[in-house]
Amino acid sequence: MAVVKIDTLSRSVAEGPSLMTGSIPRRDWKDMPVQFKPGNYAYPAKSEIIAYLDSQPGLNLPNARDWSPEDDDWKLPEDWKETIINGLAERLDKFRSLKIFMDCCVRCGACADKCHFFLGTGDPKNMPVMRAELLRSIYRQEFTLAGKLLGKMAGGREMTVGVLKEWFMYAYQCTECRRCSVFCPYGIDTAEITMMLRELLHLVGCGINWAMEPVANSNRTGNHMGLTPQAFKGNVDFLCEDIEGLTGITVNPTFNRKGAEVLFITPSADVFAEPGLFTCMGYLLLFEAIGLDYTWSTYSSEGGNFGLFTSNEVMKKLNGKMYAEAKRLGVKWILGGECGHMWRVVHQYMDTMNGPADFLEVPKSPITGTVFDNAASTKMVHISEFTADLIKNKKIKFDKSRNSHVKATFHDSCNPARAMGLLDEPRYILDHVLDEWHEMPENTIREKTFCCGSGTALNTDEIMELRMRSGLPRANAVKHVFDKHAVNTLATVCAIDRATLTTLMDYWVPEVTVAGITELVGNALVVEGEKRQELDEGLRTLVF
Ligand code: SF4
Ligand code: SF4
Repeated sequence: MAVVKIDTLSRSVAEGPSLMTGSIPRRDWKDMPVQFKPGNYAYPAKSEIIAYLDSQPGLNLPNARDWSPEDDDWKLPEDWKETIINGLAERLDKFRSLKIFMDCCVRCGACADKCHFFLGTGDPKNMPVMRAELLRSIYRQEFTLAGKLLGKMAGGREMTVGVLKEWFMYAYQCTECRRCSVFCPYGIDTAEITMMLRELLHLVGCGINWAMEPVANSNRTGNHMGLTPQAFKGNVDFLCEDIEGLTGITVNPTFNRKGAEVLFITPSADVFAEPGLFTCMGYLLLFEAIGLDYTWSTYSSEGGNFGLFTSNEVMKKLNGKMYAEAKRLGVKWILGGECGHMWRVVHQYMDTMNGPADFLEVPKSPITGTVFDNAASTKMVHISEFTADLIKNKKIKFDKSRNSHVKATFHDSCNPARAMGLLDEPRYILDHVLDEWHEMPENTIREKTFCCGSGTALNTDEIMELRMRSGLPRANAVKHVFDKHAVNTLATVCAIDRATLTTLMDYWVPEVTVAGITELVGNALVVEGEKRQELDEGLRTLVF
């Protein structure tokens, strides 16, 4: 899809019809059907992908077929309505949080203007309270006495194909970032409501390909791209050759090695795509510098878990693979790389889905002796926690001048920030590897961070204008520090962010590039025996 030009989009964002500009819809929201047109929806999952996943043990993903959201007939199963209502009943019974979220919203509106999709599109149905209402209205009609007796007067409505289509539109215009929940006095987590909407849609075969193809690949070969074990190892080997060329350090990582102390798992994007590759070089150099006894796995070769964007059962299955591999290899604990949603799954869901992982040990750094009690159940430590601890205990040395080409700002990735509270460790690392970095405005960082706009499998080109709109609040904050301090680098700890923010910056603030925190660590790290060249761009420097 062609992306609208920046001057046109920025003008239409500011002047186009929306509540933000005073244009009030004339009809009740329930009377405004969604209209699918090229550019406002992500492509549906391919039928062969759904058929494959449905055939897998523990998964239920029915109704594989070719279809398009633009078609009138979505080729739903005959009993689709019954399936949806029964599915909702089952989930209300299973998840107490869902029942509470359905009942306790007081419509105070505190969340309304906190969503980047609402800010970027001006579409009232992108207000979190409205997004939830899409489901809540059905809940009221079907599961409350008032709704059963009074219907519309009690805020209920019939479940129709039109409602289902509306769910599909707005469940995939939410990145499950949870920013709205920070501002809700009742702690209503709209991301969890979106997750339920997506689960219900999958019961009748309505999912998107950008989520389901990575899920299928992860299940089959271990990672989103479907890299074979040989290709995965080959890519890491290439990076080791680059490290040797740039620094004179020979790195010899091991793969699938039984008895290693630590299993290292990172998003596969770190291994095959820029700018993640440079972060991966940072990991390799760091582990070599401290002599860590670790192994990669070519089977559990993906930290990302697109099950979070699909359904609880898919999330559980993909998460289970990491722990099965840790058990098979006999490691003591797991070290995790720079990923966003992997950490939400590990911190918020793993324990009740697959845990506690009592066959592993409570993680203890073999270099500093620090015991990571915060990971006592999951047995999994974030690379930023691990690195910050190395710095605090003076186990690694840096030469900040090697990052003199970098003037950074830091983007808190939604999941590490809001789902695991990883707020200070990346900042502590930046203090030690950079001479200068600057915070974005207070209401756009830490727990209140703005989403990249393309997470939860929305990082797909056919909705590029939507992505540029929803990423606008984040881009605007970066523009602020670019104008004020001339920052040139947006540092982050998430693989999806590194991909999505690169596109977003290219569009809104092209002077700013995106880098992982561990890339900046690798740039500045002083390693014994190195013969490092003058590297103008750190580990990105091309040496001929
Ligand atoms: S802030 Fe919470 S209670 Fe208020 S409208 Fe939003 S979801 Fe409802
Ligand atoms: S979770 Fe994020 S994307 Fe979804 S409604 Fe809330 S603020 Fe918007």
